[in-house]
Amino acid sequence: MNKIAEAKTKIFTRDFYQCRFPGCFVRGEQNLELAHRIAKGKGNRKYIRNKIRQWFGEDLDEAGIDKIIHHHFNLVTSCRIHNPYFNLANNKQMADQLILEIYFDLKSIDYKDPGNGYD
Ligand SMILES: [Zn+2]
Repeated sequence: MNKIAEAKTKIFTRDFYQCRFPGCFVRGEQNLELAHRIAKGKGNRKYIRNKIRQWFGEDLDEAGIDKIIHHHFNLVTSCRIHNPYFNLANNKQMADQLILEIYFDLKSIDYKDPGNGYD
């Protein structure tokens, strides 16, 4: 399985192979696709880079931006009809919140518990 198919299977499994639009019960791999809450595209990449610089003074490279765009928080199982519903293009507040959540999640992966010093 290639990386994209693998990621897709992970998200579909998390979402029980069902569209996550409330009340929509479309199921099955052949009827589903991955929706990006923050869509791929130059404008959004620039937006993310600027926000992270503004909030944290960190300059993300292209790989760092990819990690945010392809993060599982940013991906949702959707049927074709509801895919646009998940797009946060018209909701900057939720998009910013999501960027923050992903940023902290990515940081926490690097976090090593220093322990209490008594062991
Ligand atoms: Zn749906």
